[in-house]
Amino acid sequence: MKAVRFHEYGGPEVLRYEDAPDPIIAPHEALVKVRACALNHLDLWCRKGLLGITTPLPHISGSDIAGEVAAIGSIVTRITPGQRVVVSPGISCGQCIYCLSGRDTACRSYEIVGGYRIDGGYAEYVKVPEVNILPIPEGMSFEGAAAFPLTFLTAWNMLVNLAHVKRSDEVLVMGAGSGVGSAAIQIAKLFGARVIAAAGSDEKLDKARALGADDGINYVNQDLVAEVRRLTVKRGADVIFEHVGGAVFEKLIPVLAVGGRLVTCGATAGHLAQTDIRYLFMRQASIMGGFMGPKADLLRIVQELARGTLKPVVDRVFPLKEAAAAQCAMEDRKLFGKLVLVI
Ligand code: ZN
Repeated sequence: MKAVRFHEYGGPEVLRYEDAPDPIIAPHEALVKVRACALNHLDLWCRKGLLGITTPLPHISGSDIAGEVAAIGSIVTRITPGQRVVVSPGISCGQCIYCLSGRDTACRSYEIVGGYRIDGGYAEYVKVPEVNILPIPEGMSFEGAAAFPLTFLTAWNMLVNLAHVKRSDEVLVMGAGSGVGSAAIQIAKLFGARVIAAAGSDEKLDKARALGADDGINYVNQDLVAEVRRLTVKRGADVIFEHVGGAVFEKLIPVLAVGGRLVTCGATAGHLAQTDIRYLFMRQASIMGGFMGPKADLLRIVQELARGTLKPVVDRVFPLKEAAAAQCAMEDRKLFGKLVLVI
């Protein structure tokens, strides 16, 4: 099959469009003919080798996969060849205390399809366990289906499970133009909160408003802290949804409301930041980190997508062989929503 692989860590130039062996399925697995695969920052981290986790090389990235079932293993019963499917990206043992209590991301054997150790969807075919396969909501394109799993699952876990977002909350969504940011706006609105979107351009803020954001802050030409205080009438934000880290993170703690919850993931602009602990205890605030989300929540997300209350946001599609150009666009943050490879 054709695939985009890297044989060494490095910049986008290490990505090679080339022939790779077809995956061989185990009895409990299905072979999926990939039709669309969305990019994630995880792909960049793996390619750069920054994780302190050894990725077997050559490696095929790609965690958000939609396609058709091409073949099934001998004990697979629930799916049939030809079915349009989307892949639930988390793989875990299914037997430990974490898996059985809905906290599968804490499982010792938790892996992400296309993540550090398992080949993913920058390819014509990928193999995944049967239990990781979900039907695509009716009427949704392959590109749309590839655009939701990882970001919506991550954003749902952070806002719903960790921050317990609710109707009276004012939610500040940082990096509102990213995949996870555009998901967070919609999820916060679904739960009735008021959303303040923050992004680096007016064009992105217009798109954020079209997704339901009530207010916008352009953090390039506006003072983020002053604007949050103004828009919340000095109260501060009840929930801050943050995935940039670094210097931005430090600015955010003083704009938490009393009882505020800051939820973070990604740290795409830096993983070290100072915390003024006085703000935390004086405001009885919380800082929480999220990593992916329970498999069960993806089923709930699919329901909302089928109803149309949540929508995948596709910025642009690229052919598979242009995966390097797509990754460059992601690093430059020149996007609103998801970048998707079509195969
Ligand atoms: Zn487990």
